[in-house]
Amino acid sequence: MDPQKKRSPSLRDKIRRLRATFVGKMPHVQEEIATYLRRLKDDPTNEHALADLYRSFHSIKGTAASFGLQAISSAAGEGEVLVRQLQILSQAQRGEELQRLGEDFSDVQRKLAGLAADASADESLEPVPESPSFDMGVVASKNNRRKIYICDDDALQAEQLGEQLACFGYSPSIFTEPEELRAAALSSQPAAIIMDIVFPAGASTGTELISELQREIRVKMPVIFMSSRNDFDARLNAVRAGGEAYFAKPIRAIDMVETLDAMTNNREPEPYRILVVDDDPEVASYHSFILEQVGMTTRLLHEPERVLEILGEFKPDLVLMDMYMPACSGRELSQIIRQIPEFISLPIVFLSSETNKSKQVSALRVGAEGFLTKPIQPEDLISAVAIRAERMRTLRSLMVRDGLTGLFNHSFMSQYLETALASAQRDQAQLSFVMIDVDLFKSVNDTYGHPAGDQVLVALARLLQQRLRSSDMVGRYGGEEFAIILPDTPIETAREIVDDLREQFAAIRFQAGEHDFSSTFSAGVASYPGCERSELLRECADQALYRAKQSGRNRVCQAGEG
Ligand code: GH3
Ligand code: MG
Ligand code: MG
Repeated sequence: MDPQKKRSPSLRDKIRRLRATFVGKMPHVQEEIATYLRRLKDDPTNEHALADLYRSFHSIKGTAASFGLQAISSAAGEGEVLVRQLQILSQAQRGEELQRLGEDFSDVQRKLAGLAADASADESLEPVPESPSFDMGVVASKNNRRKIYICDDDALQAEQLGEQLACFGYSPSIFTEPEELRAAALSSQPAAIIMDIVFPAGASTGTELISELQREIRVKMPVIFMSSRNDFDARLNAVRAGGEAYFAKPIRAIDMVETLDAMTNNREPEPYRILVVDDDPEVASYHSFILEQVGMTTRLLHEPERVLEILGEFKPDLVLMDMYMPACSGRELSQIIRQIPEFISLPIVFLSSETNKSKQVSALRVGAEGFLTKPIQPEDLISAVAIRAERMRTLRSLMVRDGLTGLFNHSFMSQYLETALASAQRDQAQLSFVMIDVDLFKSVNDTYGHPAGDQVLVALARLLQQRLRSSDMVGRYGGEEFAIILPDTPIETAREIVDDLREQFAAIRFQAGEHDFSSTFSAGVASYPGCERSELLRECADQALYRAKQSGRNRVCQAGEG
């Protein structure tokens, strides 16, 4: 075990408490088992009693195993096997078989009672399973997330690239000597290094220098190589030196930004939202603790009949569902969820102690995404959930995002504006809405070509996305028009923010063949209170934008100052 890995004592305590609650409930569950058995003996055709009996053993088996109580789990497993022997018989044959198995059932009951008593008498009887430890990857500290080292013997080129990256919020440092870069990287690691390959004769190549540096630091650093060479050998050396990307000069700054964004994990991802459905509160809490420990947000649901209400309210990325519950089975519940158009693609993963393959397959047939078996290793639970939740996020984002810029599309923004306005009204908060339109964009297309125009739109999209808070919503309204929703922001503040963005955007240089050029935008800002309906917000922002265009472009106007 790596002593460096952090362990959360509170998770251990939580699990210990859950286990104690489970053990404390055992006498009650044993009484239930006795009741079901009695009912079955009175009436061997009683299907309910048979199903309840199965569920009781099955759930003890799974829960006990999750809490590391192996002996209790296997005793319950024996009970489960006995019930199965009854289930495969016709109702007429059950009475006789039940008589024959009577002693076996009593054995199991005695065993369970004894083990449960031992477990409650001795807390340390079996250790609480190791609480999971996670290596969340080497994430550069917040301050370093935007620090970029550029190393190029051509100082002018490096400076120009640095200036452009700064427009997108990165903090570049320029080094013209590889030795300077090495010293800087050893004392403070950047989020990424952009390294030239060819240095003046006599010096090592960029790839050699980086290989040495990686060995010295012993932590893999993201590296992008750039070179005036574009041949196979140069690229191969770059890959071997651990380069994650390769740019042949001349370099377009926005392509570099896109790569850096991807490499440095620019935006904090929203935590995954997981709904945990299990009739057993201890098991549900146990799974939710594990997921929350790695930053996911969970919600527990013990009463299946509330599922639709909770789904609408919590909007999970994934549902983790128990198979056997008293009110209805996980299978049935999935079918209900799938009947609602909104939730057709919501991933549902069964988590059950069911090991019978054909039952698992039948659960998958109702559209479940996967089947996990209890007890599950915390790491396995986390990765199974994270992979599927991520896939769901991607799919969903494809539906509401604009293809060129990756921003939210018009219909999503309209919908979101309604919701955001309603919550601002409810919380008596302020909200600003901004319309942005690129200036004389038609002439950009006409002069430099459509692809150059696209480059401008993508750059503006990136700038907006990076410079705004994660609670702000940025969308492409159509063509060269963009919209921003800024919750909790008064109109003057919104105007200042957008004015800063305007200046930053104007500083970006674009390349089109031989030429380079820059572009500007105009914006109109409106806000609530003042505009009480979403149509009014849009209208006022649009009028303000019109005034900005009329009065000379490259400026921001606000509603009501006209
Ligand atoms: P103004 O300053 O008054 O806004 O002038 P403008 O030229 O920007 O305004 P206009 O609305 O006349 O022109 C917008 C142009 O944007 C026309 C259209 O061809 C272009 N356009 C719309 N969508 C895209 C796109 O996705 N890519 C590119 N390259 N151009 C686009
Ligand atoms: Mg325009
Ligand atoms: Mg326009």
